[in-house]
Amino acid sequence: MQKIGVFVCHCGTNIAGTVDVKKVVEMAAKEPGVVHAEDYQYMCSEAGQSKIIAAIQEKGLTGVVVCSCSPRMHEATFRKAAEKAGLNPYMVEIANIREHCSWIHKDMQEATEKAVILARAAIAKVNLNAPLKAGESRVTKRALVIGGGIAGIQSALDIADAGYEVDIVEKTPSIGGRMSQLDKTFPTLDCSACILTPKMVEAAAHEKIHIYTFSEVEKVSGFVGDFTVDIRKKARSVDMDKCTGCGVCSEKCPSKKNPSEFNRGLGNRSAIYIPFAQAIPNVPVIDREQCIKFKTGKCGACSKVCQAGAIDYEQQDEIVTQKYGAIVVATGFDMIKLDKYDEYAYSQSKDVITSLELERLMNAAGPTGGHLERLSDGRAPKNIVFVQCVGSRCADERGKSYCSKICCMYTAKHAMLIRDKYPDTNVTVFYIDVRTPGKNFDEFYRRAVEDYGVNYVKGQVGKVLPQPDGSLLVQASDLLDNRQIKMEADLVVLAAAIEPNPDVRRIATMLTASIDTNNFLTEAHAKLRPVESPTAGIFLSGVCQGPKDIPETVAQAGAAAVKAIGLLAKDKLLTNPCTAQSDELLCNGCSQCANVCPYGAISYEEKLVNDHGIRETRRVAVVNNALCQGCGACTVTCPSGAMDLQGFSNRQIISEVDAICR
Ligand code: FAD
Ligand code: SF4
Ligand code: SF4
Repeated sequence: MQKIGVFVCHCGTNIAGTVDVKKVVEMAAKEPGVVHAEDYQYMCSEAGQSKIIAAIQEKGLTGVVVCSCSPRMHEATFRKAAEKAGLNPYMVEIANIREHCSWIHKDMQEATEKAVILARAAIAKVNLNAPLKAGESRVTKRALVIGGGIAGIQSALDIADAGYEVDIVEKTPSIGGRMSQLDKTFPTLDCSACILTPKMVEAAAHEKIHIYTFSEVEKVSGFVGDFTVDIRKKARSVDMDKCTGCGVCSEKCPSKKNPSEFNRGLGNRSAIYIPFAQAIPNVPVIDREQCIKFKTGKCGACSKVCQAGAIDYEQQDEIVTQKYGAIVVATGFDMIKLDKYDEYAYSQSKDVITSLELERLMNAAGPTGGHLERLSDGRAPKNIVFVQCVGSRCADERGKSYCSKICCMYTAKHAMLIRDKYPDTNVTVFYIDVRTPGKNFDEFYRRAVEDYGVNYVKGQVGKVLPQPDGSLLVQASDLLDNRQIKMEADLVVLAAAIEPNPDVRRIATMLTASIDTNNFLTEAHAKLRPVESPTAGIFLSGVCQGPKDIPETVAQAGAAAVKAIGLLAKDKLLTNPCTAQSDELLCNGCSQCANVCPYGAISYEEKLVNDHGIRETRRVAVVNNALCQGCGACTVTCPSGAMDLQGFSNRQIISEVDAICR
């Protein structure tokens, strides 16, 4: 029997406001093995920890139960305190009487009863705990960044500047992400390419950074400090080493009418193309779906004109396998599809466009050379209407419940740029609220209203109706004057909600990283660990974690890099000793455990087994403790009860259940 100390925390009034902590102490003191029980205001404080240390030393405790907040908050704190007092840290258990009890109950009597039960279960478990020793694993001094937008580029630069090798894997033919599609950027209105291109060039030139474009992560195995990743380098059909980037191939390619992804389908590109002038690498890629040679076997014009002999129709996808210590996810975002928003006539009129399409129209390198014109007839628009919150802050399931955060600012930017360049154009913005909480952001919005004469109307657009003469009729309600408005427009710009890149689900599954109901990657702790995923060694950078503008993205990218550097700077990591073990006497070699293990930690060996005096060779499961992450999938799957988890053994779990049901 252990000698157990129970420490009940008030957490100010967080726990004590709903749970009678004195009663929990009194009841816990009666449990088997308990030789000490006390309560304190804040157990995690220095003074609280000192109480635990003193009790361990003075009473010779062999086990500790702390009734407090979630183990995610302070398990490490209390384990360290126990270790300081000479007790094995794995002899400490937490009963979560805050998140699991006081925060979700109102009735003190009920909450107290539940807290007593939770304490009882933890005491039952600690009675069966055994000291455990953490193992060690090595750290590969190389980081992987998935996504080559501004977030990925910044994270890679910061990690590389700290002296570590970094690989960026970008699925499109060039790095740059959405920022490369923007014209000018709020709040300073500087040209996006002017500030992004130097970063792209710096990343490409950095001796520690290796960029895989037109590539995707195919498989991830391993764990923090020692991931093994398969990267698929898709066939560009152009030899990167030979190509000089002259662009003659694109010029001569007869397959020209393919919608340009970079210009959001507003312009065309050849089948062999470089997505934009500042692309990195400045090497084209053949779109095999559109290439005449790939479709019919004829053509081959690009190969004939390429002086460098760089065209390679036979090129195959290549798989590169690389090891990494840390992985930064920076997969960014896209705009939502507008097929559920028929009322705005997006699919009916060429003159109803999204804000990102407007960025391309206003860009000097865009499909109209920077001239703002109606896509239906090329005329300059005289009345432009912006519609805010299309699919953001949405009460129904058509859109997103969250605020996309960037639209109020980029619409103010668009409105100002238009009024500046075309002063005769009337600009009206229909908004629900104007949200401008960043540094100098409110001033920016007010400039749009006061200095640029943009007409802001608090109201909702109900319908956009294409008219027989080609114009658009906007029907809206003015929420301040409580009246209906009908307004003629030449161009309607929809601030469509943003959503995580759809690829993120696949990436998250491969990394065993979690995503929220909106598919944004989840942080380990919303406030205290905002750039770490709950999966060790996976860090979050940019809009893949939540909507944000460029300054915020860059700040977060730097923070993710710092966390990755902190990991890469270590030579070894302590590994979780709560790993699985198989009992070779019970194992029947059925392979079910290996099939469910997400970390590939289970293999099979022929072993000589002494089964109650009968010696025979059997095929039994063997766990690689360096790979096992203690998830417990094998223990619940094993039909013969041969798999057990150290620190969470079947006996311990059943004793907890017994204590709860007592
Ligand atoms: P992205 O730019 O989306 O980059 C993500 C990258 O990851 C992309 O290159 C993508 O191809 C790649 N990727 C995705 N999945 C994978 C995968 N599975 N494998 C490999 N690669 C992958 N912000 C401002 O501060 N000022 C502005 O003026 C401004 N204007 C804007 C106007 C509009 C219309 C929009 C939509 C946004 C605007 N923003 C502005 C916001 C800005 O675009 C974002 O803050 C920024 O682009 C976020 O960068 P990111 O790297 O997180 O994401
Ligand atoms: Fe590269 Fe050859 Fe095309 Fe020039 S013609 S861009 S060298 S592939
Ligand atoms: Fe274009 Fe012909 Fe080359 Fe295909 S083979 S990319 S169609 S020039």
